[in-house]
Amino acid sequence: MQHENMQDNPLQDSLHTTDTTDTTEGTEGTEKSYSGNFFRLKRQLERQVAQAITDYGMIDDGDTVLVCLSGGKDSYTMLDTLMELQKRAPIDFKLIAMNLDQKQPGFPSHILPEYLKNLGVEYRILEQDTYSVVKEKIPEGKTMCSLCSRLRRGAIYTFAREIGANKIALGHHRDDILETFFMNMFFGSRLKAMPPKLVSDDGQNVVIRPLAYCTEKDIERYARAREFPIIPCNLCGSQENLQRRIVGEMLESWERQSPGRLNNIFRALSHVSASHLLDPGLFDFRGLTRDTVVPEGDIAFDQQDFKPERFEDALEELPLI
Ligand code: SF4
Repeated sequence: MQHENMQDNPLQDSLHTTDTTDTTEGTEGTEKSYSGNFFRLKRQLERQVAQAITDYGMIDDGDTVLVCLSGGKDSYTMLDTLMELQKRAPIDFKLIAMNLDQKQPGFPSHILPEYLKNLGVEYRILEQDTYSVVKEKIPEGKTMCSLCSRLRRGAIYTFAREIGANKIALGHHRDDILETFFMNMFFGSRLKAMPPKLVSDDGQNVVIRPLAYCTEKDIERYARAREFPIIPCNLCGSQENLQRRIVGEMLESWERQSPGRLNNIFRALSHVSASHLLDPGLFDFRGLTRDTVVPEGDIAFDQQDFKPERFEDALEELPLI
């Protein structure tokens, strides 16, 4: 996926651009053989992550980035990609992988330490029984995820401060951002998504989402090819939020009917015309006079012309493996 507000991308410039056919090189901690399609997908993800890091100033020279791993496909992919960029980036930054063991019954606590050791990355496992707290507070049959996530966030923020990490990387991707955008609109009446970079409420942590430009489909394909040891999140028995599932299915069906539509919506999130929305807090409508210059101009009586959806973007996203 290309992004229209792209900044010059020093991380991307340092990536190789040559094609690769069947080879075993380029992946950590494994002897596995990969196809040329896999390497094209890998480079595409690296380019998108490098671009997002550059556009939003996510990582600076000297940073220590705490890379949060849940054991899901997204966070494994994020760690792989950040490790690759770290090797080639013109800046120095440190990565510390971490997993929070929340003590859900049946959580296979050996999987991540074994995987991370084999990968050769510095890592920490934080053990904190948030599971018991959630079970105690949430009535049987209710979704536990929001309290669970809040407790997890608190534990990670505290841990980041303790070990001196100044950035916390989370594995949310483009489709998480879009889902959150529509959830907020449909159920919260707010035009609000999930930012690629934010400061925690206590001002102590900067949270980054390096996969912000990556699609879930690409991450799924990458994770399948890499055969990550996936740990399911629903070990605790909590059900996925119904509203989120409905929104996810709606987005999938839009994309099936009109390939490229999700990219257009995603791009719209970074091309906001405050003067053509209705929020007096964002644009000074009361103070508007004949002398006010409005960037988007007067379209009060015009039929709007919309460009057809960009099928070249959809083509870019055709399955590679
Ligand atoms: S599924 Fe369970 S472990 Fe995962 S966020 Fe929800 S409550 Fe927490």
